[in-house]
Formats: sequence, structure tokens, C-alpha cells
Amino acid sequence: MSLNIATLLRESTLRFPGKAALIHDGDVLTYAELWTQVQRLAGSLRAIGLSPGQHVALMLPNTPAFPVAYYAAQLIGCPVVPLNTMLKADEITYHLNDSDSHVLIAGAAMRGEALAAWHRAPKCPLFIACGGDEMAPELAAESDGKKAFAWTPLLQDVPLYCDLYPSTPEDTAVIIYTSGTTGRPKGAELSQFNLFYNAAYILQLPLSFPSHDIVGLLALPLFHSFGQTALQNAVLLAGGTLVLQTRFDAHATATLIEQHRVNYFAGVPTMYYALLHAHGISPAMLSSLRFCLCGGAAMPEEVIKRFDATFGLDMIEAYGLSETSPVATMNPINGGKRIGSIGRPIWGVEARLVDAGGDIVTTANTRGEICIKGHNVMKGYYNRPEATSEVLQDGWFHTGDIAERDDDGFYRIVDRKKDLIIRGGFNIYPREIEEILYAHTAVMEAAVVGLPHPSHGEEVHAFIVLRPGCQATSAELVHYCQSHLATYKYPRHIKILPQLPKGPTGKILKRALRDSHGAVL
Ligand code: ADP
Repeated sequence: MSLNIATLLRESTLRFPGKAALIHDGDVLTYAELWTQVQRLAGSLRAIGLSPGQHVALMLPNTPAFPVAYYAAQLIGCPVVPLNTMLKADEITYHLNDSDSHVLIAGAAMRGEALAAWHRAPKCPLFIACGGDEMAPELAAESDGKKAFAWTPLLQDVPLYCDLYPSTPEDTAVIIYTSGTTGRPKGAELSQFNLFYNAAYILQLPLSFPSHDIVGLLALPLFHSFGQTALQNAVLLAGGTLVLQTRFDAHATATLIEQHRVNYFAGVPTMYYALLHAHGISPAMLSSLRFCLCGGAAMPEEVIKRFDATFGLDMIEAYGLSETSPVATMNPINGGKRIGSIGRPIWGVEARLVDAGGDIVTTANTRGEICIKGHNVMKGYYNRPEATSEVLQDGWFHTGDIAERDDDGFYRIVDRKKDLIIRGGFNIYPREIEEILYAHTAVMEAAVVGLPHPSHGEEVHAFIVLRPGCQATSAELVHYCQSHLATYKYPRHIKILPQLPKGPTGKILKRALRDSHGAVL
């Protein structure tokens, strides 16, 4: 038996050869054209010396080159290592070494850092420069056995590679780096089946239109599991069209939605706040949307309500991690969603809560760490048996997130275990305070963290971005929280900032807030 996720693209090409698979910057690539590029690059990768099982690192933005390289590597049986395009040279070297990558394919904007890193990565002999001046002198062949290639010739006049590698469902398809709960980034090994089935889930959803009519907008970075699975793999499996946006920008995103009649959008909460608050985005611009998926971080209840009411939509919240491919739970679509909940485990996935002593929580509405078991759970962290056994026990993946389950089996994320604030011995969950702040009309974004305090251990600090055109002082906001929250937990310090630090997907980076404000306040 074999399963190779490149099949999803091959099958859609057989069904819809002339249909637009990708749209980027006004250029359209049909399924036939995309698959041809994939087959050409696959042949070239074999010709320059890549063998099945060797790892292909990608440092590419959201352009057609990403899916071309991704499926070409799969076609010849090479696992893909997608790297964050914002990494600096030292970090890239770490990832190349840690993942045993044999080739690094890097976009023009990342070339400088990528090349510097590649020179320092002894086990990575091949480099492919994609975009920009691909023949630049610094890319000339090296003497120490390292070789650099230009991307464009690898796709020209090359025979089509047709011999789909017969991977087993358990073979590794992707090694995706995540900071996890502790330590340096670790590579979560996701299998062919993990990724195939998490994408195939989209075909089971009772969408209000045939799944091959899906037009998805990809503003999430492709190197992250959310964009890769819920958009790239899902839309191409369905035979739909994927509109690629290099970087999320509320107004540009809304314009693309309007222009291409996008009916499916998946994003993190900060993208939804931005769409809701940006000037000049009318409900008419988003009127083609039929399915909006939100995940990656806690979605404040107030924001879902406002978004649904403003745009006449029914935003669906899901939950997962890179280690779970990523979707693990989802709210029902077409009615029945519970705002503030992440829904129930998806088909074939089980969830359970365990308390601090490791016992399974059986009573409803009681907190515990949410653990996940099923077809979406990673094989483990690449080359890290100890880190793997810390989080994976008897098939149960320990997520590091605290949750509750109601009587109907709907889960609600209380917070990340590591974000818990302990003030004077009391446990405080930042999300509860953030929910209160988001209900304030002047607040656009809020993040609550614990910072060291000499007598309480930690003190509650909130960081706020105001809605455009709204005024509020820190003292007013502190007073507002004081009137809605118990004395021990309202934030004593609220700082208004022009923006909050965000990670590559747009998630608010609490660690960066703690690092930059911990010493000052
Ligand atoms: P990173 O933290 O590096 O972005 P992941 O993308 O794997 O890595 O993030 C997974 C984490 O995102 C989860 O552990 C959880 O804390 C958070 N998360 C994902 N979806 C939700 C959600 N719907 N509600 C609350 N938190 C979420």
C-alpha cells in the first residue's frame, strides 16, 4: 500500500486540467501547468543528485514556487522542511543541521541570510536560488563539494518526471518546526497520512457549495501548518482555486477577496480583528465569503460576534497545533457552533483532559490539560526521542493547553499552561482578562502577561492597541477592568502601544512582550 500527498495534485489535474489552480499577483497557473512544473522540478531534483528520503528545506514566500517545490519533493519521495522565511542566518543553519536537509531552496528576499547559513551547514550540499538574479556571482559553484543552482533552468526543457514515489502512509512527508512548549525549535514529523487526512477533512464539510468550487485565499504563511494544510493541501485536493497573498494586509486581503470572489478564508484572530477594524472595508467587499475558519490562537467571543454581525458570516473556530497536522477540533458548520468554544474533536480524533496529577478529568466544566489522540498526531520530534516521549504517551499528545469540556463534549481553551500567571499564589488565566478587554469599545488588540513582582511573584500587565479613532487612557482601562474582575486579577498596569509584536502567522507574541517589558516596568 502506498500514499503520497503529491497524488492530491495529480488527481485534481486529471479532473480539472484547464482550471485555475493558483492565482498570484494577477498570474494564473492552471492545474496542468502547475503539475507540469512539479514534474519538471522533480526530474531536475533527481538529476542534481537528490535521492528518495533526503530532506528538502524550503525558504519560500507565498508564491507558486512553494507548492511547486513542495509537491516536486513529495513526488520523488523527499520529505519537505518548510522554514520560516524571516529566520536569520544562524537560525537557518540550526534548522538545516537539525533537520539533516540536503538541499535548501530559497526565495530572492531570503537569499542573503539563506546563503550565509548554507555555507555554514556542512551536511547540506545543494542550494537552489529562486527568483531575483538567480545567476548572481555569489551563487557560483563551490569547490568544497557544494553546488548552487538557479531555479528557472530546472523547470525548462526537462523531461517530465512521472514515477510517483510509493511512500507508505507512515512515511514522513513534512518536518515542521515549532517552538513547542519549551526549548529550541523542534521538527514535528508529520506523515503522509497525517497531512492527507487533515486536508481531506475539508471534503467532508457540509459546505454550501460543491468543494471543487472552493476559492481559498492564502494569507497565512505557507511554511506554517495552518496555511499548508487548511488551504494549500485542502484546496488543491478539492480541485479548487488558491489565491496566494505574499503577506496579509487587511485592505489588500479584502480587495483580493472581492476581486476573485473568494469563498473560503482561514486565518488567525489578529487577521479577523484587522479586517473588522480597517477603514474602507465594506461588507460588500467580503460578500462572496461562505466559509471562514479561525484558529491558531484564542478568538475573543466579542470579536466573533462583531465579525459575524458586520459581515453576515458564521465564523467557525477550530483548534490545533503543528504537532496535530494541525486541525484537532472544530465547531460544527451550518449552525450549532458555540462561540468561545473550539468545538469537538474532528472525525477519528479523541480528546481528553488530564489534571496536574496526571489523572483523567471526568467531570464536565473542570480544567485540565487537553490531550489529543488520532490520525492527526505527529510521529514525533525529528531525532528527539526524549522530547517526543515527554509529550507523546500511549498515543496521547499532551498539548500544553488548559481546557474545559461541557456536558455536550464541546471544549473551551482556558489558556496555555505556560501563559498562566501566578499572582500571590492565585492562578490567573490571561484569556479571561483579555476577553473583558476585547469587550471594551476602544480596544482592538489585547495581550495580558505576568511580569516579575517582588512580593506577589508576578503582576498582571495588559498591553493594548486602541481601535483607530478611539480614545482611552490606561487609567480608564484599569478602572474598567477593576469593575469587571475580581480584585486579585485585574491588571494593575495597562500600557497602550501602537502595535503588538506578532509571529509569522500573525499570532501575538507574549514572550516578546515579557522579554521587552519585563525589565522596564
Ligand atoms: P506556535 O505556537 O509556534 O505558533 P502552533 O501553531 O503549533 O505553534 O500553535 C499551537 C498553539 O496555538 C496551541 O497550543 C494553542 O495554544 C494555540 N491555539 C491554536 N488554536 C487555538 C484556539 N482556537 N484557541 C486558543 N488557542 C489556540
